[in-house]
Amino acid sequence: MNSVHAPAKPKRTNLLDFDRKGLSAFFVEIGEKPFRATQLLKWIYQEDVQDFNLMTNLSKSLRAYLNEHCCIETPEIVVEQIATDGTCKWALQTSCGNRVETVFIPEEGRGTLCVSSQVGCALACSFCSTAQQGFNRNLTTAEIIGQLLVAQKRLDPDNRITNVVMMGMGEPLLNFDNVIAAVNLMMDDFAYGLSKRRVTISTSGVVPAMYRLTEVCDVSLAVSLHAVTDELRDELVPINKKYPLKELMAACRENVKIAPRRKITFEYVMLDGINDSLQDARGLIKLLKSVPSKLNLIPFNPFPNSPYRCSSNETINRFRMLLNEAGIVTTVRRTRGEDIDAACGQLVGKVEDKSRRHLKIKPASSERAA
Ligand code: SAH
Repeated sequence: MNSVHAPAKPKRTNLLDFDRKGLSAFFVEIGEKPFRATQLLKWIYQEDVQDFNLMTNLSKSLRAYLNEHCCIETPEIVVEQIATDGTCKWALQTSCGNRVETVFIPEEGRGTLCVSSQVGCALACSFCSTAQQGFNRNLTTAEIIGQLLVAQKRLDPDNRITNVVMMGMGEPLLNFDNVIAAVNLMMDDFAYGLSKRRVTISTSGVVPAMYRLTEVCDVSLAVSLHAVTDELRDELVPINKKYPLKELMAACRENVKIAPRRKITFEYVMLDGINDSLQDARGLIKLLKSVPSKLNLIPFNPFPNSPYRCSSNETINRFRMLLNEAGIVTTVRRTRGEDIDAACGQLVGKVEDKSRRHLKIKPASSERAA
């Protein structure tokens, strides 16, 4: 006999899941004109209106349809921390019960939002604390672009988000479609309208996805290099075993062809006694000469049980000087939000690991029980 259930409510379509192209297609599908997409984007991203009833240039019947079948749903802030230097970190609750983190970094004349792309990370970079959390799932487009919406709402109006870096939790190019849709919204004049120079995707080097990116989107690209030999990079950034340096640099050379004077930003974490020798600097000069590039040295940010130490200031400065003298524009990333663990590689959220990467060694007791 069948038990009686209340009919399941059909799931509403979250309109934050669409970029302009997706939204136009959605409107066409429901019998509307594609230009409704630009109207809706302006309401959401420029006027900060989320109530369909207030969207006065939409017809009454369309507003009724949207009220019944659609929603504009952002992730919810569950923890807010503000560092002494003004950096803000928010933990956001996702629908699956996990948390991801977003960081706002105020600087003279600009404000950068560091955005997460996945719940945890499936790559096991040995110097990154997000990696220790394991991986749960990809964030949706709504959860990615929603980080901008909720952050901007929490900030004073004079603290505008002028730059976005996809450098929070996760590997953006392993969540390709959702990240591209979100980045499209960041750069769309009908939505956030940030210039392509102010939106950056950072990748550990997922080479096939880098080629795809080059084809579909001219967002700025940063590459986490961290080592100049395959031997060391295999250890620090294990995806190098799949896509070694030679293939990575070839993908970078292809990407800079998008536009004249385009450059790749290479990130290089400074690890004491590991990748900070004179020989490493020389290797780096040689490698970076093969592609138009800028270099960003990141002082290593420690986390509990991390096996590394940060290089000394002296070593970092010497490294920078050598690279600059060789004609490679090199900057040292200032560590921000240290007192709230908001710096690079310190974002952890709250992740229930589904990758089982951490379950490789079965505890003896469960072995007996099995
Ligand atoms: N998955 C993307 C984005 C990650 S975070 C990527 O790998 O590029 C952004 C940068 O912070 C990356 O360059 C990453 O390698 C670096 N990073 C990770 N852990 C760090 C740590 N503990 N200290 C300093 N930088 C770190």
